[in-house]
Amino acid sequence: MTAAHYIGGRWVSGDSADCITVYDPSLGEPFAELTAATPSQVDQAIAAARQALPAWRNSSASQRAAYLKGFAEQIELRREALIALQMQNNGKPRHEAVVDIDDAIATFSYYAGLAERLDDLQDREVLLSVPGFTAHTRFEAVGVVGLIVPWNFPLVTSAWKLAPALATGCTVVIKPSEITPLIEQAYGHIADALGLPAGVLNIVGGKAETGAALSNHPGIDKLSFTGSNAVGSQVMSSSAAHCRPVTLELGGKSAILVFDDCDLDQAVEWIVAGICWNAGQMCSATSRLLVQDSIADALILRLKSAFEKLRLGNPLNGEVDMGPLTSQAQWSKVNTYFAIARTEGLQCVTGGDVLQDPGWFVQPTIYADVPPDSRLWTEEIFAPVLCTRRFASEAEALALANDSRFGLVATVVSADLVRAKRVADALDVGHVWINSVQAVFVETSWGGTKGSGIGRELGPWGLSAYQSVKHVTRCLG
Ligand code: NAD
Repeated sequence: MTAAHYIGGRWVSGDSADCITVYDPSLGEPFAELTAATPSQVDQAIAAARQALPAWRNSSASQRAAYLKGFAEQIELRREALIALQMQNNGKPRHEAVVDIDDAIATFSYYAGLAERLDDLQDREVLLSVPGFTAHTRFEAVGVVGLIVPWNFPLVTSAWKLAPALATGCTVVIKPSEITPLIEQAYGHIADALGLPAGVLNIVGGKAETGAALSNHPGIDKLSFTGSNAVGSQVMSSSAAHCRPVTLELGGKSAILVFDDCDLDQAVEWIVAGICWNAGQMCSATSRLLVQDSIADALILRLKSAFEKLRLGNPLNGEVDMGPLTSQAQWSKVNTYFAIARTEGLQCVTGGDVLQDPGWFVQPTIYADVPPDSRLWTEEIFAPVLCTRRFASEAEALALANDSRFGLVATVVSADLVRAKRVADALDVGHVWINSVQAVFVETSWGGTKGSGIGRELGPWGLSAYQSVKHVTRCLG
């Protein structure tokens, strides 16, 4: 068994009896194995992070910025290996794996830039309305943070947490997903290459038991979690039990609203990207299409043709538009939704089934005129499954879009920019795109309203998630 866990600057094997098998989803075959970390190894990782905290948090922010730049450079050096691993383990088409690498690099570079400015922002005086006092502001690291991440964008979701946490002076224990446990190991190898002080970054791999050992541990000061609502709720409970802060990036059931003045071909491109990128395994997938009555038939016909033209296949065998789903569990779950659609009598425009051997592929699927109480309309499926509904007016479109327990993102497609802006402002979500693919910039925030989570990542908000604000007030008298 390989030494898969990075604790206190050393690579160690897992002590658990739990074996993690790593699969190539295009073949449905295993290609690596590792043993999970035990709760006692999680203890050790947290103790190492605690020991490293005073020196790291008191280092100058410009020193930390230099390490972050190093992370960006080292990811670049490992580009090809990381692209290959994401293609093999996630089933990502090459062009998508490339975007993930670029995103992780951009994230470390951006937070290096913010860290460089942190020393200047420290101890700034506050203008007080009452004479006789002075006050200044300090931004301090929250402390030892636990980071729990999912499998769909492993390099990226980790970077979004790791880079700002390290920038502020936090030390971290990260728990990758058991489905993609090898990808984040790159961050441990990079820490070695850069000579990052031991204990600043720790990686413990494992399943739910390892994650729970981290999120329930009394020795962390904050937990940042990205994953499902079911687990997010447990993580929130453990944070509540310890009365400590938590950031949650959870699921979505996002809408794309298409108005009748749009360019239909352009709309098709954005709709397909919004539901088929990463085989629909995106928290931000725009899985509910709301289309204005007068263009609905024409748009759905074009979508059917576009879905049926998508090239599915093993990304390692050449350029494809869509790979498999990343895990067998996910494939089985989607198969269950196809069965529910049949039971509910939904109108299937194209797809509607899984593909048999080899691998865990599903057909890109469209259901038309899906009732708002259908489970396929309300629940996150996490697959290339698009549900559509027609609307007659802007007010109806908005009401349908906002009628969800989630509120992660939305897309508005319209040639009328005044209307598009008005609709964007009225959508109860964390991020809206107008006439665009889901372009994510490190300078803008990521996070949702309602059941999609608590807090924001990226931008300066992602940095403040790991900072504690302190004021020091002095009486001059
Ligand atoms: P998941 O909740 O099953 O697992 C996420 C992580 O939590 C994994 O590392 C897992 O091992 C760990 N875990 C499992 N049980 C745990 C427990 N009891 N205590 C602590 N940790 C535990 O989610 P997933 O299937 O890996 O990811 C898919 C979900 O993630 C989807 O719902 C998706 O919408 C969401 N997601 C959200 C965002 C966002 O930014 N909002 C981004 C990506 C994915």
